[in-house]
Amino acid sequence: MIEKGGAGMIDIHTHILPGIDDGAADWEHSIGLARAAAAEGITGIVATPHHYDGKYTNDAVIVRELTIELNNKLTELDIPLKIQTGQEIRAHSEFLSNWQSGKLLPMGDSSYVLIEMPSSQIPRSMEQIVYELRLLGVRAVIAHPERNAEVVQNPDRLAELVELGAYAQVTTHSLLGGFGRGIEKASWTLCRRGLIHIVSSDAHNLEWRGFRLKDAYERVEAELGPAWRRYFERNAQAIWNGRELTDQPALAQPSAKAAGWSKLKSLFGK
Ligand code: FE
Repeated sequence: MIEKGGAGMIDIHTHILPGIDDGAADWEHSIGLARAAAAEGITGIVATPHHYDGKYTNDAVIVRELTIELNNKLTELDIPLKIQTGQEIRAHSEFLSNWQSGKLLPMGDSSYVLIEMPSSQIPRSMEQIVYELRLLGVRAVIAHPERNAEVVQNPDRLAELVELGAYAQVTTHSLLGGFGRGIEKASWTLCRRGLIHIVSSDAHNLEWRGFRLKDAYERVEAELGPAWRRYFERNAQAIWNGRELTDQPALAQPSAKAAGWSKLKSLFGK
């Protein structure tokens, strides 16, 4: 049983396990990422290696083994960080049968599962996966929807999935502009529409895809206010502890200028 971390920052989407996907290449890189996380004030990390994405298959067994080994190394090295198991699972047609046969991992001991969509579009199976998981008491957490072309073009498509019971995770680097101005803008649009529930790093390496969780929370506080920062922080902790996510703060009213503009547009039917 993994000892649960304290009240520090929690990161629910990372590629910290060594040598099994495009994240940490080996133990040295894993430990380097762990040290960087602890230095930022992160106390708990869910390891979510790619699974079923057409390139990587990382069954529950290997994820469990490496997570135990990494936790042991962190204890030996006195790094104040705990790791829980998970997978970043690509949406696929046998998702539900694989879930029911125990081949897929939730995040930690929770009933939340991290699901990745291809970057070009929302797969047709997505609605059914979200809905049927919900019937089983399991919540889909959609990884970085701000990097999905169909969501960026039409955020209502994500709203439909949220309505069916999904939650959505935005990536720190997207919020901070690391994937370019377009994805940065899309990230904040989704946040302002109340379609984002969790912020996490999707950390892969120290060179150009580290954590930046603290930076992202600070930007959230500056852009959306302290209540939204607390909301995102609490939700990550809720997943870590297998609890329900918290209620969303009120959405900011659009500025008078923006409201006036949309009224004009509706008057002229554009
Ligand atoms: Fe990822």
